[in-house]
Amino acid sequence: MKSIAIIGSTGSIGTQTLEVVRENKDITVRALAAGRNTELLEKQAREFKPDIVGIWSEKDAESLKISLADTNIQVVSGMEGLICISEYEPVEILVTAIVGMIGLIPTVRAIESGKDIALANKETLVTAGHLIMPLAKKNNVKILPVDSEHSAIFQALNGERKNEISRILLTASGGPFRGKSREYLENVTVEDALKHPNWSMGKKITVDSATLVNKGLEVIEAKHLFDVEPEKIEVLVQPQSIIHSMVEFNDGAVIAQLGTPDMKLPIQYALYYPERRYLPGDRLDFAKLREITFEKPDRVVFKGLDFAYEALKSGGTMPTVFNAANEYAVAGFLGKKIKFTDIYEIIDFCMKSHKVKENPSIEEILEAQKETEDLIRRKYNI
Ligand code: NDP
Repeated sequence: MKSIAIIGSTGSIGTQTLEVVRENKDITVRALAAGRNTELLEKQAREFKPDIVGIWSEKDAESLKISLADTNIQVVSGMEGLICISEYEPVEILVTAIVGMIGLIPTVRAIESGKDIALANKETLVTAGHLIMPLAKKNNVKILPVDSEHSAIFQALNGERKNEISRILLTASGGPFRGKSREYLENVTVEDALKHPNWSMGKKITVDSATLVNKGLEVIEAKHLFDVEPEKIEVLVQPQSIIHSMVEFNDGAVIAQLGTPDMKLPIQYALYYPERRYLPGDRLDFAKLREITFEKPDRVVFKGLDFAYEALKSGGTMPTVFNAANEYAVAGFLGKKIKFTDIYEIIDFCMKSHKVKENPSIEEILEAQKETEDLIRRKYNI
């Protein structure tokens, strides 16, 4: 029996992780944490019987304690609660299914406690990859990618030598606004942005896919995970989302991972790595597949990618500013306080206003996040 904990259990990745657990029957869920969805968390607690559940606010924790009073489940709250879950002794793998930079500290604490990380929370690597990867190495901890593209690259690299990689081809669907003009983007609504063509995901990442910021975050994530230079990471739009990413080697050979778009595959692979378990669901029918097409991303209209390469070039705290500015801007867009295209303007403004601090510590990363938040609040009132 494997023992896992999930932070962000009520979200898209969290619930799909629990589906994988339900299907396999040989994983024990020792702890679960959520943000605000107490109702679903209580349901999950009753089904999976963890030792601990965490909910963000103290008030929600109080009501959860009352509703779970007939069980032995301990209820914790806030960052302290997330840390308690991340360090919980019996846990072997922490699934970071939480959204945003809030995942950073719990991930660090889990690594320091020797837990392997099934990493969906890309914001952690984007902001602190230079600390996380060496820390994982020092603690002999595996960082197992859950992001489908990074899982594909991880699978393509199985048994290969990293110094023989010539290029990583990170694929993108192009999002709901692929092919649209800058003028078109001026008037898109939240509802339009949430209509992803192939994947059903949480709201933040769905908007990030529409701006191509998600792909930018993934470029930074890939740089840290696979220790490759940014110049060797190329983004390629593959609108059918069948090829989840590819690696080209020195001899010109290209290894790709293909499959139907189903996040349960990378989740299950991370939980059982290197074992490949049976996964129910659709299989690719190549005879019926009409086409797999490719195009270059439109980096003029969708600036998310250029921001990411720029952030990588500047280094230090700049990826944090890119990520934090995006987090606040997307929250503002989802709250209908700003336009879709304002997301780009806000990121651009924050990055241009920032003075980079080299090789930042966790505290300096959190300071840069706070400065970005304050700057956005002052200038944009969101
Ligand atoms: P969702 O918005 O669907 O879920 C986010 C989860 O985080 C929810 O369980 C939410 O709880 C929880 N959460 C938010 N704030 C807190 C908090 N303060 N304390 C505890 N829990 C909190 O997001 P996704 O599942 O889509 O994404 C999660 C992460 O995985 C992101 O980093 C995303 O980029 C990454 N990812 C997602 C993919 C996908 O297919 N969805 C694919 C690849 C990567 P609640 O709902 O109760 O408020």
